[in-house]
Amino acid sequence: MDRPALTALTPGQLADRFAAEGLTPAFARKFHASALRRGQWPTDDTTLSPRLIAALRQRLDLPALTAVERRVSAADGFAKHLFAAPDGAAFETVLIPLTHRPGAEKAVVCVSSQAGCAMGCAFCATGRLGLTRDLHAWEIIDQVAQLRRSSPLPVRGVVFMGMGEPLLNYDAVVQAAAVLSEPSGLAIAAKAVTLSTVGVTPGIRRLAAERRPFKLIVSLTSADPHKRRALLPAAAAYPLEDLKDALTAYHAATGRRVTLAWTLVAGFNTGEEDARQLAAWTGSLPVQVDLIDVNDTTGRFTPPGDAEREAFRDALRRHLAAPVIRRYSGGKDIDAACGMLAGRSPSPTGWPA
Ligand code: SF4
Repeated sequence: MDRPALTALTPGQLADRFAAEGLTPAFARKFHASALRRGQWPTDDTTLSPRLIAALRQRLDLPALTAVERRVSAADGFAKHLFAAPDGAAFETVLIPLTHRPGAEKAVVCVSSQAGCAMGCAFCATGRLGLTRDLHAWEIIDQVAQLRRSSPLPVRGVVFMGMGEPLLNYDAVVQAAAVLSEPSGLAIAAKAVTLSTVGVTPGIRRLAAERRPFKLIVSLTSADPHKRRALLPAAAAYPLEDLKDALTAYHAATGRRVTLAWTLVAGFNTGEEDARQLAAWTGSLPVQVDLIDVNDTTGRFTPPGDAEREAFRDALRRHLAAPVIRRYSGGKDIDAACGMLAGRSPSPTGWPA
C-alpha cells in the first residue's frame, strides 16, 4: 500500500495516527512544520527522538513536485511556475507579488487544483486542454511550499484560481487548505485562502454545511442563463436558481458576503441590462462584484475599453447596492493571467502543447 504523504496531513491528524508510538501534538507540529518548510525530513533536531523519526519515515512518504520551468513577467513581476508530478502530469502555479503598500509587500500563490480542467469555459486556455486528473492534497500543498521557499516576498495568501475547478476535487482541496492554514506550518490565515468556483453547487453547500473558514469566489459572469451558458458551459449543470439557493445557504451558514467574479467581455456582458439582471438575481443576498478583464489567448473574446468598463461600473452602482471592485489580472506577457494557464512554453521543456 502507498504510504500517505506527511505534508498532506495536518499536525493533528499526524499526532492521532502516531499517538500509540508516543507522538505528542507538540512534537507533531514541530516535525510537520520542519518538513513542510524545508521539503526534507527533519534530521538535525536533537529534541526529536531518533526512534520516532525512524518510525515516521518508514510509514510516511515525503514526495515532491519537479520544478520544470519558471518565467517571470518583465511587466509586473508575476512568476509562472510549471510543475510535473511523479506520473508526469503537468500544471502551473503563479506567484503574485503585491507591492502597492510600501513596508507591507507580500505575495499570494495562485495554485492549480487539477491538471487541466473539464469545465470548458469559453475564454479559458486551461478549459481547452480538458482534464488530465485531480491533484492530490500534497501536490497542491507542495506548489505553495516550493514557491514560499523561493519567493523574495513573504507568502501571505493562497488563491485556488489556477488550473482546475477546486470544488470538483473537494476533499483534496479542503485538506490542502486546512494544512496551508495551520498556524504552526506555512501560517497562511484561513481567511487569506480563497476557493474559486465556476458555481459547483454541491461543493458550495458542503462548504456551508461544514462551516469552512475559507473565502469563496463564484464566477458568475452573467445573470442571464443563456449568456452565462455561452461562456461557462458548466452552468448547464448548475443553473442560476440552484446557484442562488446554494449561495443563500452559504451566506446563512457563514454570515459572509458572497464575492461574484464577472469576467468582462466587450459588447457581451457589460450593458445596462446585464447590471439590471444581476441586481434582480442577487435580490437581498449580500454580494461583492469583482470585475476582471477577459484574457482570451485565441482573441475570440476581447476586454472592454475604459469607457465601456466605466459605463458598466456606473450601471452596477445604479442597480446594485454592493461593492464593485476592479481586479488586476497580471502576468499577461508570460501567459500567467486568469484564463491563460495552458502549460505553454517557448522552450522545449516537455510542457503539453
Ligand atoms: S476558468 Fe477555471 S473552471 Fe473554467 S475552464 Fe478555466 S480553469 Fe476550468
